[in-house]
Amino acid sequence: MMSHASYRQGSRNCPDCGRAMPVQILVSGAGWYIGRTCERCGPWDRISSRYWGSRREAEAALAEGDFDDRANAVENEGLIGDD
Ligand SMILES: [Zn+2]
Repeated sequence: MMSHASYRQGSRNCPDCGRAMPVQILVSGAGWYIGRTCERCGPWDRISSRYWGSRREAEAALAEGDFDDRANAVENEGLIGDD
């Protein structure tokens, strides 16, 4: 199980091509989110449990650490009453 800290700070390397995949702001059809992507192979994972409506909001959340890890959210499912 990954710890909270390693999830947030972790820069991984792509298992396919070895490129670094720093945590960054990404966008999908659902909105802006915090995750990692390989610039060659594509999106790797989504870290934030939610999406934001703008890049600015997502950047602010990342800078402040004001977001729930997706893994953490799953672990705590049923324990967290509100968003
Ligand atoms: Zn890659």
